[in-house]
Amino acid sequence: MIDEWDLTAVSLHRLRQRRYEVAVLPVAATEAHNLHLPEGNDFRQTTHVAQRCCRTAWERCRSVICLPGIPYGVDCNLMAFPLTIHMSQATLDAVVRDVVVSLHHHDIRKVVIINGHGGNDFAPLIRQVQSDLDVHVFLCNWWQVGHDGYEAIFDAPDDHAGEFETSVALALYPELVDLEVADAGDARPFRFEALRKGWVRTSREFARVNRHCGIGDPSRASAEKGRKYLDVVCERISAFLVELAEARIDEHFPHVP
Ligand SMILES: [Zn+2]
Repeated sequence: MIDEWDLTAVSLHRLRQRRYEVAVLPVAATEAHNLHLPEGNDFRQTTHVAQRCCRTAWERCRSVICLPGIPYGVDCNLMAFPLTIHMSQATLDAVVRDVVVSLHHHDIRKVVIINGHGGNDFAPLIRQVQSDLDVHVFLCNWWQVGHDGYEAIFDAPDDHAGEFETSVALALYPELVDLEVADAGDARPFRFEALRKGWVRTSREFARVNRHCGIGDPSRASAEKGRKYLDVVCERISAFLVELAEARIDEHFPHVP
């Protein structure tokens, strides 16, 4: 069976028989994750979430298409680690904008960015592109989708390559996880209370935090925890995609009529 929700799989012949309402664009990063996770962690996990959600949504509404993901993200603050690939936000915005313009050309006016990297920030681009074009762009940082139930699944909070990210990796590609070499993920705290409390923010240069850029303890990670979290996240996002696909764009969209 051909996956007609997957743009890399569907043919022109099939595309012409379909009307796609919603396009989903995964965006991630290629960077180090403590000592034990693959560099492609964000890209693999984000692609999995986007594809799984589009497959589920397709079964319910037959009008969602998943685009190939962008594997690079904003990583200038991780360049101290070998083979981190950095793409500036300006470049990333230009690429995403061109994708949105192409979709608009093909009369798709509802676009969902599924973002899997904390360093990417598409809010200003979305504000601008929606003013410039007759499109509606939605941003979903997928790792945050189940945060209201986080403590029921995980023992400790994650920041980078800790219990959460490692659990999802164990659920999806355990053969690529080297838990025996993982560092405990201790991180040097900020020296200023304002930064520790979060009412003053900055960008972290990860090499100043520790030697492996892991922040959060991966030792209690398990595939089962990863599966549980993915189930919650993917069900929520899939349901949103269906709702969005079925919603008519009227003068008050996306607000209530
Ligand atoms: Zn990550």
